[in-house]
Amino acid sequence: MNDWQALDAADLELLQIVRDRRTGTLAVVAIHDTTLGPAHGGIRRRAYAGLGDAVADAVALATAMTWKCALADLPSGGGKAVLLDQPGLDRAAAYRRLGQVVAGLGGRFRTGPDVGTSVEDLAQVALETSFVSTGAGGEGDLGLATARGVEAAMQALVEHLGAAWTGLRVAIMGLGSVGLALAELLAQRGARLVVADVDPARAAVVQQRFGAAVVAPEAIVAAPCDVFAPCALGGVLTVEAAGTMRARGVCGAANNQFATPAAAAAFAARGITVVPDFVANAGAVIAGVTFAHDGRPASPERLARIGATVATVLARAAAAGRPPDQVALAVAKERVAQARAARHR
Ligand code: NAD
Repeated sequence: MNDWQALDAADLELLQIVRDRRTGTLAVVAIHDTTLGPAHGGIRRRAYAGLGDAVADAVALATAMTWKCALADLPSGGGKAVLLDQPGLDRAAAYRRLGQVVAGLGGRFRTGPDVGTSVEDLAQVALETSFVSTGAGGEGDLGLATARGVEAAMQALVEHLGAAWTGLRVAIMGLGSVGLALAELLAQRGARLVVADVDPARAAVVQQRFGAAVVAPEAIVAAPCDVFAPCALGGVLTVEAAGTMRARGVCGAANNQFATPAAAAAFAARGITVVPDFVANAGAVIAGVTFAHDGRPASPERLARIGATVATVLARAAAAGRPPDQVALAVAKERVAQARAARHR
């Protein structure tokens, strides 16, 4: 597929390239779909090999946001902005310029934090537009929101596996803002924890507070457990991991957990149920959109609704003999298509 065909297939509502000579800004804004509501998506700042790579990244991220919002039952669509980082970039001016672009979209795109964008950067955007979540705290603790969503997703997984919380052995990889909060929630449920972090001090805290067993980071994937919860990096579900994992299910916050399509196939072949990451880790997006709409943090009950979606996805996947991530994508596309059809009725 050449670049034009790829863009055609992406089926975007809007693609805008922002070039500003005065500030040196080079950025891409992609709005994938606003059928369910205004597009939501943060600003990513990265050094890209070229403009084509930046466009491809913006398109992929905006599309992923559409499906994530649809699965989270949010009145919002998918968008993303990427700012090409380069030597000599006047960062403050570039973010302010992006703020003008967002303002010009008149509410069709609401932006916020993402990799490479700080609270200070968002303050520059906010000088030009109110369609920005500044990440200054009104959404509540996003790590906790994500952990509550993972907990609800895991509840659905536990039911799907015919297991119970009490005595359930959960292996948590990564004890940062999500993993630590998740450890507390699961300990309250009566789960037994085995944990790992490259920072031994973090593992020691969870050991002391919740009686978790600690293993080395390289041992956590194959640790004896019922559920594996990746809460560190993406790409942790490899073909090799599928061979050594002892868990019956996977449910965690890390983005893009499958290293390769072959790894996804290997997990399916071993009968390990993997809850799609983009369903399980939607808590922060729910918190962000809820705050943008209602000016308050998302309630625990709202975040727990992730569980109902996971239950639907796992049941349909089992009935059809298909991988849960493919079924989740199909559910998201159905929701958008239904909303589009209802609008045109
Ligand atoms: P974080 O940076 O606060 O924590 C990550 C933790 O993982 C750190 O304690 C780090 O020391 C540890 N770690 C890194 N490499 C490791 C390894 N090889 N083995 C064991 N531990 C390792 O990040 P976070 O905000 O808790 O997010 C965790 C994951 O969830 C990330 O992949 C993130 O993209 C994803 N996510 C987070 C949110 C959110 O709201 N924070 C939302 C959606 C997705």
